[in-house]
Amino acid sequence: MKCPACHGSDLEPKQLEEGLVAASCSECDGALLSLINYRYWAQHTDLSKEEGELESLEASENPEEKAQVCPKCARLMTKFKIGLMTANQLDLCSHCDEAWLDKGEWRLLKQLDLHGQLPKIFTEAWQRGIRKERMYNVVKQRYVDLIGEEDFDRVEQFKQWLDKHPQRDDIKQFVITSYE
Ligand SMILES: [Zn+2]
Ligand SMILES: [Zn+2]
Repeated sequence: MKCPACHGSDLEPKQLEEGLVAASCSECDGALLSLINYRYWAQHTDLSKEEGELESLEASENPEEKAQVCPKCARLMTKFKIGLMTANQLDLCSHCDEAWLDKGEWRLLKQLDLHGQLPKIFTEAWQRGIRKERMYNVVKQRYVDLIGEEDFDRVEQFKQWLDKHPQRDDIKQFVITSYE
């Protein structure tokens, strides 16, 4: 198999972790990880023991925005955002159930404590969560600019309390109607 990122260069087996083998490129350090292998490894590894390293989040990202080609089946891979804390995206071939990790992305997942739940990132729910969070941050910033950080904190605390309240809708109704 040839590396999908630098083309030409061959992929060779390499351990990402003890018991977790991926097809790795010696040139760009990218790795093709079979999710079947991954699931087996995740089930048989105690991930709670690992200490999260507090280093800066750095991993190379394929600068070409275009989709990567699966080295196994030559279909286009789909890009999935990891989260708002990083611009890195993971590539997945849903046909082969193989993920492509650019150099440093495995380490990045470990730093974010996501290395035990990799397949979750490839779900619509995870991606929707990221979009929702991003939207929330945009709205939040607008209100912080408007009323200041301190007051916004109070509003946010109230909202967090309200979100969990069983009579949420009644309380909301009260707040709204009391200003009418
Ligand atoms: Zn490569
Ligand atoms: Zn494929």
